Amino acid sequence: MDRRADPKVRQAVDNIQGRFLERVAVRLENGLTEQELAEELIIEAFALTDASYGFVLRLSSDQQFQLDAVVSDKEGRLTPVQDSLSNRLPDELMQDVIATHKPAFSNDAANNMTVNLPDGHPPIHSFAVCPLVERTKVKAILLIANFKRPFDIHLMGRLQSTMNALIRIHINSIINRGMHQVVDAVGQINQQVVNLLKASFDSVITLNDQHKILSFNPASEQLFNIRTFDVLGSSMTLFIRKETLDEIQARHAGFNANSESQYTQPYRFEYVPAHNADGRTFLVKLAAFFSHDKGQRVCTLVLREQRDTAQPQTALPDDLLQYNALTSLIPVSILKLNQNWQCEFANEAWCELTGRSIEQNLDKGWIEALHVDDQPNLLVNMGRALLHGRRYCEILKLKSSSGEFVDVGVKATSLGDENNPQSSTLVVITEITDQQQAAQQLKQLANHDTLTGLPNRTRFLEHLESSLEERGPNEIVALLFIDLDGFKAVNDTLGHDAGDELLQQVARRIKHTVRENDTVARLGGDEFSVTLTTLEKGKHAGIVAKAITNGIKEPFILKAEEVYVSASIGIAVSQGPVSDNSSTNALIKQADIALYQAKLSGRSRFIFFTAELDQAQRDRSVLITSLRKAVDRQDFELYYQPQLLIREQQLLGFEALLRWPQSLGEHISPADFIDVLEDTGLIGELGEWAIGQACSQHRIWLDRGLIGPAATMSVNVSARQLGMPNFADSVAAVLQNQSMRPDSLILEITESALVQTFETNIINDIRSLGVQISLDDFGTGYSSLAYLSQLPVDHLKIDRSFIADIVRYPHAVTVVKSIIALANTLGIRVIAEGVEDGSVLPLLEKEGCEGYQGYFYSQPLPSQLMTVKLQHMETVRLSHYANFIDLDDSLAG
Ligand code: C2E
Ligand code: MG
Ligand code: MG
Repeated sequence: MDRRADPKVRQAVDNIQGRFLERVAVRLENGLTEQELAEELIIEAFALTDASYGFVLRLSSDQQFQLDAVVSDKEGRLTPVQDSLSNRLPDELMQDVIATHKPAFSNDAANNMTVNLPDGHPPIHSFAVCPLVERTKVKAILLIANFKRPFDIHLMGRLQSTMNALIRIHINSIINRGMHQVVDAVGQINQQVVNLLKASFDSVITLNDQHKILSFNPASEQLFNIRTFDVLGSSMTLFIRKETLDEIQARHAGFNANSESQYTQPYRFEYVPAHNADGRTFLVKLAAFFSHDKGQRVCTLVLREQRDTAQPQTALPDDLLQYNALTSLIPVSILKLNQNWQCEFANEAWCELTGRSIEQNLDKGWIEALHVDDQPNLLVNMGRALLHGRRYCEILKLKSSSGEFVDVGVKATSLGDENNPQSSTLVVITEITDQQQAAQQLKQLANHDTLTGLPNRTRFLEHLESSLEERGPNEIVALLFIDLDGFKAVNDTLGHDAGDELLQQVARRIKHTVRENDTVARLGGDEFSVTLTTLEKGKHAGIVAKAITNGIKEPFILKAEEVYVSASIGIAVSQGPVSDNSSTNALIKQADIALYQAKLSGRSRFIFFTAELDQAQRDRSVLITSLRKAVDRQDFELYYQPQLLIREQQLLGFEALLRWPQSLGEHISPADFIDVLEDTGLIGELGEWAIGQACSQHRIWLDRGLIGPAATMSVNVSARQLGMPNFADSVAAVLQNQSMRPDSLILEITESALVQTFETNIINDIRSLGVQISLDDFGTGYSSLAYLSQLPVDHLKIDRSFIADIVRYPHAVTVVKSIIALANTLGIRVIAEGVEDGSVLPLLEKEGCEGYQGYFYSQPLPSQLMTVKLQHMETVRLSHYANFIDLDDSLAG
């Protein structure tokens, strides 16, 4: 039940009102200051609630609290108290009271409030907070407090209605004084004139120099459909455009409050657009004159609605009239904005939806109805769309009259002309129904990556396309492609949960690094993109990229472990004249090329796309085409590099190395094309050929007695090959064909390739055939020494960079020493790669490294040359290098 309808409450309020009037009637006639009013309200509140401590906080326009009066006394003596309770009140409580217009109270304040009370004042136990509402706005807050615990809902209801009533009385007194002011203004203090104004069919309004309304007669109430006390003190711009009011003032610029003459001649204006409190727009005739009142310049307006429709078309400054007629029929919210995004018109539906008065929407007030997160983007995006002659369309969050946030569809169209599309804008806001919400959610799902919540590839493409399309001639769009280095290792070692968590954390870090307007998307796997549209210079994209790589370098905590990854970034910048719509694809391709280059150049780098990179990419395409042909025609050859026991200088075996012969007897190094073979999948076919070819060569040399049966043949295998179905079967088939001892075949695999196969059984399958595994290029990947114990390998090849280091910096030998020591402990045999300088051999041997290969002994050689060389070489006949030794077989060989 509405407590105001409760007869007992009404009676109580009436009594207090009567007493209040009796007590302050004389002062009211002269006008209470705000300070005085605050004191009176506190006294009445004390009387009603038996409280003994109180103050009023006035809210200034920027929502800051301002201490208006501090009063504390039970005997009716008012003492200002400096240290108030105000700064001890929880902020949320104040905000709640302001937002809901509802009083709040607590009877358990002892714990959370201490205050400098006047001497002898008992501690406070209870307090109540009441909003003081003038028209629709909370203008101030009354706080009263007590040492007893007296507050309850009934008392609060009574207190609130009393306060409302007292404020009404105060406002009415202002209205009456306002009416007298009009009388003063026309210079005749005469009840006759007051009656005249009351009876007038014309609206008569007086304003001060700031267009604030000082008085408002009954005809004005009718014309503008609003009650006098609701407008006093408000700006006349509620009804008449500011430009018009400024012009009126300008015409009377010469008339000042000290001038000789009493008042000016009235100026007349025809066809002035005006709108009433409901948003209805109409035209008025207007007369204005100025006079003095107590040293203040007062403007009196006389207004009459202009109903003849014969006005010239040019006299209509805008089409607000039509809007009004139209918009009152449509159940959607409509705003009309000027070129400064100020609201010129808001329809009823908008005011209802947002619970905002017309006044609250004026200027840029309408934006406040939107969620703070949506506010900055709206104007930027809307401006951009209109500038490019498009409609703006977005789903945003809006604070409804109930205080809850609702999703609304916001569409905006330009009403301006082509040259100045932002001069006037019509904004239509529709509420989103459940069904639309479901559709929206579907759209969200279709457009967003579920793991990170970021826009997905589809949305990324849409956004990039529109960013490029809308780009002004001088605007820059930069595209960053980001790829994580080392993500797979995390996934493989810590599991997919940790991998997912890592991607989420990475997404957050990237988002926090870039600006609000930049769009971050996840393109799939460990690939992200950032689209930058607000750069001053293209090269500034490098700053963003650097910030991202630095951010990702910091450790991530996954499963309570510190994990390090890095990011490689490729950047493409679109700048200068806008080209056709193929630019989206071109930019993506450029960013891709740059990213590829960044990956190649080492981790944690960013690289801008350049024409040279483009050339490199083209070269690569040419390379792919010729490689395809070469694979088809089996244009490849294997070279063999001997591996030797250091101490005995006997042949251990060979490493088979791929060569692609070119005309003139040259050949391209596998280092230049292995990755292309991998990327294109050609490595499968070629790799299988290489294993077969190497084993068949092994068989030939064995049959010719050039090598012993324990001599091994090492063949390099890439990660991609290991991932191919039936790889182990094809190896088994080769062994069978060549009747080769399985342990004579060694497959060389790099650390990264090995790690990539962790979750598959392939290495075990190969080893169960009896084939050995050698860890190639050890030390260049990311496996640490500790990690080595977990790897299923028989041999380890120390990367040639370490061997080269020993020659240059003797202290580098400590690393090599520990690699060898650990490998020996684990029963893994060690071979040194790239020995060019024989002086390192004694040292290697001393540390426990058995074998080596390198230019020092021999370059990789074609089979014929190797055959010749073998005739002068002693090969191992018995070697612990093989898994098992078949004495009979070896003797027979
Ligand atoms: P890798 O497996 O580490 O091969 C050793 C590389 O070191 C070979 O380069 C070899 O020519 C070179 N090398 C040998 N001794 C020395 C030396 O004393 N000094 C220097 N500076 N270099 C030396 P290559 O033949 O150019 O092969 C490069 C890489 O290509 C190989 O590195 C291997 O990863 C890959 N590769 C070669 N053949 C194949 C193959 O059939 N299949 C696969 N998947 N990869 C292969
Ligand atoms: Mg190798
Ligand atoms: Mg190697």
